[in-house]
Amino acid sequence: MEKIKMNTPLVEMDGDEMTRILWQMIKDELLLPFIDLKTEYYDLGLEHRNETNDQVTVDSANATKKYGVAVKCATITPNAARMTEYNLKEMWKSPNGTIRAILDGTVFRTPIQVKGIDPCVKNWKKPITIARHAYGDVYKNVEMKVPGAGVAELVFTAEDGTVTKEVIHEFKGPGVIQGQHNRDDSIESFARSCFKYALDSKQDLWFATKDTISKKYDHTFKDIFAEIFEKEYKEKFEQAGITYFYTLIDDAVARVMKSEGGFIWACKNYDGDVMSDMISSACGSLAMMTSVLVSPQGYYEYEAAHGTVQRHYYKHLKGEETSTNSVATIFAWSGALRKRGELDHTPELVDFADKLEKACLSTIESGKMTKDLALITSLPNPTVLNSEDFIKAIRETLEASLS
Ligand code: NAP
Ligand code: MG
Repeated sequence: MEKIKMNTPLVEMDGDEMTRILWQMIKDELLLPFIDLKTEYYDLGLEHRNETNDQVTVDSANATKKYGVAVKCATITPNAARMTEYNLKEMWKSPNGTIRAILDGTVFRTPIQVKGIDPCVKNWKKPITIARHAYGDVYKNVEMKVPGAGVAELVFTAEDGTVTKEVIHEFKGPGVIQGQHNRDDSIESFARSCFKYALDSKQDLWFATKDTISKKYDHTFKDIFAEIFEKEYKEKFEQAGITYFYTLIDDAVARVMKSEGGFIWACKNYDGDVMSDMISSACGSLAMMTSVLVSPQGYYEYEAAHGTVQRHYYKHLKGEETSTNSVATIFAWSGALRKRGELDHTPELVDFADKLEKACLSTIESGKMTKDLALITSLPNPTVLNSEDFIKAIRETLEASLS
């Protein structure tokens, strides 16, 4: 069989530990035999980040701006223990944070739904994608303990010296106060990434805040979304047959529970933090969650939502067998290849990505799976495979569907 051609390279960001092992297996078994794989390779493994003073992370993000589509392996975010383990020069920042800051993107997380791994919420027939705004609010707050009676005020001093004040509270005794902020430009980027991704994936977009209570702060989010939608996206949404729907956050939560799924739920920073954990645990396994960073300019970086699976890696190093689920990492590759194919107008690549994903799902549905899934499946007598044999089983299914 002739290999599928690629016109433009993908930006390939290699990573750490068990996912780095899976990365190579996926390429060897599921990609290289079928595709004339073109990538521009960046090694984001912690050793190489340390050698390059983390320049490699910056370079890989800039390459994503050049080519448009990247695929990333999970990477270690260093902490004190990693400083010693890898003899690091510095406690390098989270690569995901660095890349997100350069691309100014929003992360969309979607559970991979498959027969036999049923969501706890039985009416969720299709996956719910969470888009989390990644700037500001409580994550960049300023807090103070109030020791006793006194007045707390919000004070804004403009560049020209004009002062605006609001009384927060006249304290009669001790308490607490908190200052939060967000920026219009960040909310605008968030809104554009959400509208873009909704169009891309042809799904409705929901957005919710508490604007009835927060009449200026949350209302600004609502207004910015509404304005950008009216001006830039309304017609495109109509043409695509999708809708933008705004409601209150508590109403959104109630509707999500009763919905069939199959839409994107845009959340403010805190709501997204909380709700993405709710969706992922309701859908079974962290190993079945995909993630894509979408910039307002239309750059895409695909990855798995889970980390480097450190515990399995240490077993692997000791020569013990592992049963690590590679599905989310495979879907990162298929997502990136599909997007590349769409941008380059190479339908064969899009078709391959579809078949690769189907092969993963059919393999699991046939009862062959890794341990994490075997523990929660409703299928009778699943066959538990090790990391490598699971990928080989997917290859068999894939070969059958390609021939
Ligand atoms: P993790 O790698 O997500 O793994 C936590 C646990 O979840 C594992 O021990 C395993 O449970 C289960 N799990 C996760 N992915 C799995 C898979 N593919 N197959 C089977 N089981 C899976 O989180 P962590 O161990 O807390 O973090 C390890 C490293 O990853 C850290 O250095 C962290 O900085 C990094 N991290 C990176 C990213 C990223 O690059 N996007 C995201 C999160 C964390 P059992 O052990 O019970 O089998
Ligand atoms: Mg969280």
